[in-house]
Amino acid sequence: MPEKKVVDRILGLYVHIPFCRSKCNYCSFFSAPPQSEEEMDRYTEALIRHIQMGKSLVQDRAFSTVYLGGGTPSLLGSDRISRILEAVQQTLSIRSDAEITLEANPESANQDLFLAFKKQGGNRVSLGVQSFQDDELTRLGRVHSVDQIEQAVESIRSAGLNNLSLDLIFALPEQTLDRWRENLSRALLLQPDHISAYGLSYEDETLLGRLYAQGKIAPVLDEDYVQMYDWTRLCLKEQGWIHYEISNWSRPGRQSRHNRLYWNREEYLAVGVSAHGMIGRIRYSFIRKAVQYVDVIQNMKDNGKSGFWHPDLMQDKVELTQEEMSSDFMIFGLRQMDGISINAFRNRFGYDPADRWSDALSALKARGWLVQQEDRVRLAHCAVPISNEVFVHFLD
Ligand code: SF4
Repeated sequence: MPEKKVVDRILGLYVHIPFCRSKCNYCSFFSAPPQSEEEMDRYTEALIRHIQMGKSLVQDRAFSTVYLGGGTPSLLGSDRISRILEAVQQTLSIRSDAEITLEANPESANQDLFLAFKKQGGNRVSLGVQSFQDDELTRLGRVHSVDQIEQAVESIRSAGLNNLSLDLIFALPEQTLDRWRENLSRALLLQPDHISAYGLSYEDETLLGRLYAQGKIAPVLDEDYVQMYDWTRLCLKEQGWIHYEISNWSRPGRQSRHNRLYWNREEYLAVGVSAHGMIGRIRYSFIRKAVQYVDVIQNMKDNGKSGFWHPDLMQDKVELTQEEMSSDFMIFGLRQMDGISINAFRNRFGYDPADRWSDALSALKARGWLVQQEDRVRLAHCAVPISNEVFVHFLD
């Protein structure tokens, strides 16, 4: 397909699929098992129509990334994933070198799916693995086995997809450093290009969160948490990996372009129930009600901007002030291990970070939590475990 007009500013597309086979014990994302195949069909058609409405917001601007996330997008199966990506390619201007990612879980991963994804321009898979030990998978409420992880990777490779990210979770209750080391080693044996490793957190509305609140499970000690994180950092560094964001590592050149776009506060069009997007200064999110989302779109008469942002679809829609945008730029930017560029900040906002946060920057540098080297300000390694304490200084 010939490439349409390309405009320089970076733009991404996020498509949210809210279906999962069952709810994991730690998950607070908006997701639920589909009631029927028809429900997934109707949702797919609603998404396609919503993407078509979204065109009016971006005109012919070209997208550098497309990300099908969830939930479990792989649960839609090859036909629906094909239909969505075909609509994306036909409706929007997608750069020929765009990064196009599919999130998948091992229990719904198969070669047909990945072949169909690749045929529609897909080139990156993010596989939810979490652990390489069946008892840990059970504790997390995952519905796949370690064998299925290995089969999924085999399907991804045999479909000719060679950009693979694995998601892992560490600091599970009672997990030892040795067990976490084994998980990471098993992950590396699969030769991924990217690893996201998150420490388990106990969200209120999750099963593990409730057990924690009732005192029935205990999180790992803080020092064990830090030991696991530090070991991840050192082990991957030794193997030539790049630590580019607090919880993300990659082989050189394999950073997630889509996630970088979030951390650099670039624009992204988002569609789907509960999806969050940002276009220009407008930050928005859609309702967390799948049936209403589909019904409103199906009955919509307006195909333009006002249809895309129909009040019955919106959870939230705000126009950010310059101050809010510059705070976000600092907070999200400092999540990246190379930090923020002062020049980039100045070009975007017309002043220097020090003009607004002089006292905070001095204090954080004096404590050794921030480091400035020429044009860049970054989080010191010692401040990573307490990064939220640093970020809070840039809210005012
Ligand atoms: S598969 Fe992912 S989105 Fe779905 S319930 Fe589990 S953690 Fe949540």
